[in-house]
Amino acid sequence: MSETIHTIAFYPGSFDPLTNGHLNIIQRALRVFDQVVVAMAQNVNKRAMFTLEERKALVQECFRGEPRVSVVMFDGLMVEAARKHHATAVLRGLRGVADFETEFQMATMNNVLAPALETVFMMTEKSHFFVSSHLVREVASLGGDISPLVPEPVNRALRERMARP
Ligand code: ADP
Repeated sequence: MSETIHTIAFYPGSFDPLTNGHLNIIQRALRVFDQVVVAMAQNVNKRAMFTLEERKALVQECFRGEPRVSVVMFDGLMVEAARKHHATAVLRGLRGVADFETEFQMATMNNVLAPALETVFMMTEKSHFFVSSHLVREVASLGGDISPLVPEPVNRALRERMARP
């Protein structure tokens, strides 16, 4: 077997913002893949809390010193973006049956579009099964303490955002 085989996971999502759930999936994926490309979907989402640039900067700050993690943005078909970044697999996280239903549908559609591109699922660690960016945004905007659920740079950014008049 060649020593030069290089595995690249393409991890798409909105990451608005990055949570400990995402962080955990990326860290564990680094044990399986040589590289993880965190891919921010540019879909126009008027309800986003952080801009794409802010989200990207937060992920980069959390993985500073880890050259195997990179952050990109993409629009259009996810499978095309994965191909462009030479992904060997698409990486997704599963929290429970609710995720399973939509993820199964998406993975099947992507398999039709790009049969050579596998989707790899990682189950959430038990301490993160209830963590979602949506809930983090909601609790933070109501003044709740979300520090146990997000990396410190994200916690800081959320607090700054909430302190704005
Ligand atoms: P969210 O669903 O939290 O808004 P994203 O759209 O950014 O987040 O999700 C990107 C990927 O990360 C999806 O595959 C999603 O299932 C996964 N993910 C999100 N939160 C967690 C978590 N707490 N544990 C495991 N996977 C997660």
